[in-house]
Amino acid sequence: MSENRVVQGRMVTAEKLAELVEGDAVMEVDSIEEADEECPECAGNVLQVVYMPSVTELVTGWKCQDCDWSEADRD
Ligand SMILES: [Zn+2]
Repeated sequence: MSENRVVQGRMVTAEKLAELVEGDAVMEVDSIEEADEECPECAGNVLQVVYMPSVTELVTGWKCQDCDWSEADRD
């Protein structure tokens, strides 16, 4: 399984995708997969990424592959 995905026309690694969601560097990426939902902004394809921004946090994030939209569940 390749973890590289095309986001907004650029090939990015799972770690880079998590950084786009977080807006900062992340420690580790746990998983990356296709989300079941489509982008609320442009109806594009959405990727779901689970990552650790720090040792004590596990965050689920979503990022559109076609536009700037992203969201993170910090609970
Ligand atoms: Zn979008």
